[in-house]
Amino acid sequence: MLCPHCGAELPDGAQYCGECGGDLTIADGSATTELAPSKHTNALRTNDAGELARNTKIGVAVVVALAAISVVFAIIAVLLLA
Ligand SMILES: [Zn+2]
Repeated sequence: MLCPHCGAELPDGAQYCGECGGDLTIADGSATTELAPSKHTNALRTNDAGELARNTKIGVAVVVALAAISVVFAIIAVLLLA
């Protein structure tokens, strides 16, 4: 095989070029298997973004509900102490 970086003749299966030190695993057949997970990761990231937005809305609703409950308990405490 030839180094895709400098064109040096290299033994098949070499992971690094002995001439220029370039990474040969990228130009290898493993490149296709490298690309597929990254696309998958991008899809997951998009889903995560939507999930995060939904979770943020739920989180805000929970915080508002807790704040309302706290106010109610504060009022009850004031009324009991009065
Ligand atoms: Zn090279």
